[in-house]
Amino acid sequence: MSSNDGIQIPSRLPLLLTDEGVLLPGSTMRISVDTPRNMQLVKSRLLKGTSLKSTIIGVIPNTKDPEHDNQELPSLHSIGTAGLAVQVVGSNWPKPHYTLLITGLCRFRVAQMLKERPFVVAEVEQLDKLEQYTEGQELDGELGELAQRFYQDAVQLVGMLDMSVPVVAKLRRLLDSLPRETLPDVLASMIRTSNKEKLQVLDAVDLEERFKRALPLLTRQIEGLKLLQKTRKPRPDDDKRVLVVRKGGVFPGHQFSLDEEGEDEDGDDMAVLDKKVKEAGMPEHALRVCLKELKRLKKMPQSMPEYALTRSYVELMVELPWNKSTTDCLDIRAARVLLDNDHYAMEKLKKRVLEYLAVRQLKSALKGPILCFVGPPGVGKTSVGRSIARTLGREFHRIALGGVCDQSDIRGHRRTYVGSMPGRIINGLKTVGVNNPVFLLDEVDKLGKSLQGDPAAALLEVLDPEQNHSFTDHYLNVSFDLSQVLFIATANTTATIPPALLDRMEVLQVPGYTQEEKVEIAHRHLIPHQLEQHGLTPQQLQIPHHTTLDIITKYTREAGVRSLERKIGAICRAVAVKVAEGHKSPKVEQPSAQQGERKVDESLRESEMAAPPEMPIVIDPMALKDILGPPLFEMEVSERLTLPGVAIGLAWTPLGGEIMFVEASRMEGEGQLTLTGQLGDVMKESAHLAISWLRSNAKKYQLTNLTGGPDPLEGTDIHLHFPAGAVTKDGPSAGVTIVTCLASLFSGRLVRSDVAMTGEITLRGLVLPVGGIKDKVLAAHRAGLRRVILPKRNEKDLEEIPAPVRAELDFVAASSLSDVLNAAFDGGFPITTNPLPHPHVTSKL
Ligand code: ADP
Repeated sequence: MSSNDGIQIPSRLPLLLTDEGVLLPGSTMRISVDTPRNMQLVKSRLLKGTSLKSTIIGVIPNTKDPEHDNQELPSLHSIGTAGLAVQVVGSNWPKPHYTLLITGLCRFRVAQMLKERPFVVAEVEQLDKLEQYTEGQELDGELGELAQRFYQDAVQLVGMLDMSVPVVAKLRRLLDSLPRETLPDVLASMIRTSNKEKLQVLDAVDLEERFKRALPLLTRQIEGLKLLQKTRKPRPDDDKRVLVVRKGGVFPGHQFSLDEEGEDEDGDDMAVLDKKVKEAGMPEHALRVCLKELKRLKKMPQSMPEYALTRSYVELMVELPWNKSTTDCLDIRAARVLLDNDHYAMEKLKKRVLEYLAVRQLKSALKGPILCFVGPPGVGKTSVGRSIARTLGREFHRIALGGVCDQSDIRGHRRTYVGSMPGRIINGLKTVGVNNPVFLLDEVDKLGKSLQGDPAAALLEVLDPEQNHSFTDHYLNVSFDLSQVLFIATANTTATIPPALLDRMEVLQVPGYTQEEKVEIAHRHLIPHQLEQHGLTPQQLQIPHHTTLDIITKYTREAGVRSLERKIGAICRAVAVKVAEGHKSPKVEQPSAQQGERKVDESLRESEMAAPPEMPIVIDPMALKDILGPPLFEMEVSERLTLPGVAIGLAWTPLGGEIMFVEASRMEGEGQLTLTGQLGDVMKESAHLAISWLRSNAKKYQLTNLTGGPDPLEGTDIHLHFPAGAVTKDGPSAGVTIVTCLASLFSGRLVRSDVAMTGEITLRGLVLPVGGIKDKVLAAHRAGLRRVILPKRNEKDLEEIPAPVRAELDFVAASSLSDVLNAAFDGGFPITTNPLPHPHVTSKL
């Protein structure tokens, strides 16, 4: 208290109305602030003020329900405690609020209310004279005796706690250093007292009265502690349990509520467990094992480490849904509506899912294939899984398999290990509480392998309908029937799914979305969802279609919609701040002119504080730039194609299709080829093929070396680079791109900047088909390119591409490299005075 020497509190204090507890001088308390008045006080006094005085506020108990703070000023207690706000922490979750850490300084009485809003300010009279405590004068007379008794009791109380705990030792030292006058307040806030009792101490302005009111509380605490110590056999950790650092206080307190009858209950406890085991509906073989364990448990002393192990085993067995299940409520028509409502586009997938569900309805046997959704991230694989569970009326549980490389993750650890636990399958069943949930095995393509056994093998057992009716988790050590569980898997690529596992599954490709589809998805699903998540309404925030398109083209480059959803979330957050700031409209801030005179329309005005501003915030291109920063993807394509020796290829990755720049440069040298950009072997071979083909056709295409000689490689070194060097690239489909890029380099002509291409090449200059056409074409479209050159034999794949995208692109089906070059350069290749009449015309070598 000495740090508060001579502090005079201001005569006008802003008041914080609290209903959570009672702050007493000399103690520190955490107060959560969430009512409009209190929030206003924190904002205007604590967050803006810089001087010490401005951080002194009055904390006054509020005797009314805080919910009514909006309507009228609650009846306030007449005495409060002036406190120093030592810390203010703000948070927006789950709703905007602050948490204050306040140290009580002294009592005050409310003399006159000055204003009620935006927060309460009152004229106050300081009741405790702080300076009187510091003079070290002894209290005498009756008061002195009372104070001495109080001090001794306090010492006794602290003595009963464990001195080896640092905070107790500190408390002991504190008792000696504190002026006696402060003891009633400090101890009353520390020991276990009700708010009412604390209020009585607060109200005792007279020091003697205060000692008298606090003394019985202290005595009660000591008696309680004595009783507790008597009835309990000493255990090493006793004192730690007695000492509970109370929520809201900085001092240790004590709680009598510690359950000390635990041992008496033991017998009952076992009986309860016994009953639960019998009622769990376990099959014969499991019940036998469980009863045996229970019998062992009963004989075991609780202090044995094995007791806890065995007990958690028995409890798990009891909790497992041996015979609990939900009834399927499948109605195909309803399922179709639900799937359509939840997901825009992805027609093929939805159709197949409905077929799957229909077959299940007709033939209630469960041994169907396991569906595996394969596609880039954020295309709705998990979300479709969730919808399937909903249409069936089943519980849903997701098991993330990414990075799992230990088979005990799936199948559990044997109970002999310390810290052993069941695997994810059994854990999942315990979580959902029924034996027929939908389990989504997420990212099966990312299963790892390690010395601890192959998790894929364990999964095989889980998924195999012939075996999974008796799946044995190592921890459980009795079999559990998984045949009712509906498994669905998801993956980004099938390439890394272990073949045996892939064999059990029916793969459904979920390709990426077109820009138009994304706009629709955003407006039908993502925006409403994000608005709801951020507590906004369409009246507060509007995102027009052209803005959504801007977000998609300039701020995201992805096959799915996940980062689009994140960007929309970012916009919602920014707008939420604006809307929240709208609370502080001038109308509200201006102090009420006629205080005291309560008017009927006041409650109306108060509620306006929470009301949204009338005009919706519309996100236009300017606002978008403000919130998301400058565009991330703009101009890139055309900027990079300003020199000969660059061409755009199309690549397929597990994350969807992507455009890929291939760059080449040449310098004087001895005909060496350098390749950079994390290339696989196949890619290197394609590069060699391309060079050989160009050299053999150099004359026909008028290709030259640095000095204009007929062999492009003579006296020349060539460097080919595939930017985005961190990503390993393999696959033969870059062949045509490398040829085009080198042809541009050797001829000094620019490749058209709106062309992307894909295709494998042969030494004779034929173009062979490649995979992933749909994803690649979508990537080209996303990047704003206009012409796509693809192998003739891939023409049939174009049917999969949505019509709007097809209409915007110009496809060139090439069967030979000369077709490719003709389409890639303006005016054909080599240049002809009559450019090809139609790009679709293909010719043979
Ligand atoms: P994945 O599992 O394929 O990585 P998610 O299922 O987690 O992707 O989807 C990411 C988000 O995108 C989810 O919020 C989902 O609801 C939304 N989403 C994806 N595709 C669609 C769609 N076709 N219609 C509506 N929302 C979609």
